[in-house]
Formats: sequence, structure tokens, C-alpha cells
Amino acid sequence: MLDENTLRVLPKAELHRHLDGSVRLGTIAELAQRYGLDVSEQELSTRARVLTPLAGLEEVIARFAIIQKVLCCYEAIRRVAFENVEDTWRDGVKLAELRFAPPFIAAGKRLGNDEIIEAVLDGVEEGSARFGIEVALIGILPRTASMEANRSATADLLACARGTHRGAWRLLGFDLADSETVRPAEEFLPLVQQAREAGLGITIHSGENTSAGQVVNTLRVFGPSRIGHGIQAWNDPEALRLLREGGVTLEVCPTSNWLTHSVPSLEAHPLPLLRRAGVRVTLNSDDPQLMGIDLVHEYALAARLYGFGLADFLEMNRDAVRASFLPEELRRRVLARWFAS
Ligand SMILES: [Zn+2]
Repeated sequence: MLDENTLRVLPKAELHRHLDGSVRLGTIAELAQRYGLDVSEQELSTRARVLTPLAGLEEVIARFAIIQKVLCCYEAIRRVAFENVEDTWRDGVKLAELRFAPPFIAAGKRLGNDEIIEAVLDGVEEGSARFGIEVALIGILPRTASMEANRSATADLLACARGTHRGAWRLLGFDLADSETVRPAEEFLPLVQQAREAGLGITIHSGENTSAGQVVNTLRVFGPSRIGHGIQAWNDPEALRLLREGGVTLEVCPTSNWLTHSVPSLEAHPLPLLRRAGVRVTLNSDDPQLMGIDLVHEYALAARLYGFGLADFLEMNRDAVRASFLPEELRRRVLARWFAS
């Protein structure tokens, strides 16, 4: 059996982690105090973590409220972005893609998208230089935000991606997240098209707590190269065929799927079935601090419950690097340095 230390130092590539969904408890407490925010001790101990399954995805999303509150200004956001790179590095990650949703961070505050984006770029730039890992960024539209907020965030994300800020080149991907059925997918198509035309890679949260039909619909409407979760495709031959033939990579996050009640148990998670069905799967942590885990925890459970060994992890990590939105030259270098077989 692979021990924790072996798994920690194992080089990894991670494609799916929300920097605005993963804030250290100590940081939440410090930021709340420094900025005089109304976060009680009791809220911190009972509402800032999800450690056992809640009724569903929406209940888990409600737990992001405290994090949303403390991401209150440039400095708080920059710090959290930096700490996410550090946490990622501690997990043995060599190539990381971190994502964030400007409309989620900005909601109810006098904080512009441009300030949020700049804070994230600065924190990640500093973290990447300090810890020596490759980091790309993905901008997210929350499906639950107003379409006006999403249109404005898209414009600001694309302006950044085309801009001259020193970290702007890292903004390489575009995503939709939150409750999948709140609006028809087609409503987001013009925004996703703009992102694609601006050269961003497309990944879409889909088939997490919904159905294989949603995965098929996402593939049909957006044609993404990656899907966040997509796990409900496991028992649908058509969805599996489309994923396989399209070379689509799934960003799978087992503990997160269990905590959002998207799978009945960790033992029953379809990750090994998807892999056996020939679908490209990768292992990710989603919102590790919120969920009291790290990426090493996900590797340990995949080894223990699904029988994955070093060869399986190497293959999944190589697929993750190949599916990354980083420029090809960088991906090639990362593959050669850390994931040569
Ligand atoms: Zn996610």
C-alpha cells in the first residue's frame, strides 16, 4: 500500500481547485478580525467547513458565505490566492490550475472585477515565483449570478487576458459553475464563445449532482475539452462514447462529490468505472480547505478504495498535463521534467 509520504512527494498535476473556495481557517479568522467583519466564533466552528455530507450541492454552496465575506479587498484576495499556491505546492503539485469567480467574490461589495482579477494575478504570480510551480488561472461564471454580472465579468476577464498586467498571461481558461439547472445552458453560449474566440480553454462544471443527460447537453452546446466532475456519465453508453471519442478530460473530485451527495458513498464513486470505460480522468481536490482535505488525501483514498497504484497516478497526471490550458511548450517541459515514464 502506498504510504502518505510517498503520495505527498509524488509529482502531481491538478486541474480543478477553487481558490475562492479554499481558504485556511486561520486566514478566515485573521481576515475577519483585521477588517472588522461580522464572523462569530460559532460561525467559524460550525459554518466554515463541510466535513460530512450535506443534503446536496446547494447546501454546500451556502457554506461558501463566510469565505465570500472575507474576500473583501485587494489585500485579502491577494493573500488567499498566494496561500492557495502554497497549499497546492505542499500537495506535491508541479502544474496547477486555480479557478475563481469574480461575480461570486464581488457580490454585495464595492469591489470591481478588475481589482479582484488583479489581486488574484498578483497573489498567484508571487506564489508561483516563491514555490517554483507552474500555475494557470481559470475565470468562472457562476450560473446563479445575474446575467448582467456574468456579462460584465466576461468582459473584464477577457480584457485582462488580452492585457499587459504581468500575470495576465496566466488567465488561460473559462468555466461555468454552480447549480447546473438554474438556467438553460444556451443562455451562456455567447459568453463561452467570446472566451473561446479570445483563445481561452473551455471547461464546464457538469454532471456533478445531475445526470448523464446534462453531460451530453454540455458537450453538445459548448464542446468543451474538459468537464468539471462529469461523473454521472458513468452509466450512460452514449455519454461515455462522446467523452471517449471527443478526447474530453474529466476533472474528478471524489471527496467533494461525496460531501455534495452526488455519490452515495466514496466506495461507490464511479471514478474507477469511468477510467475502465476508457474516459480520461484526473484527480482533483475542488475546495480542499472548505472540505478539510488536501490533494494527498484524494490520492490516498483512490489507492485504498479503487486500487490505484503509481502507474495509474502517472497516467492520470500525464493526461492532466496534456489537458492543461498552459501553452504547449510549458506543458511539454512539465511532462519531460516530472512525468516522464
Ligand atoms: Zn468545482
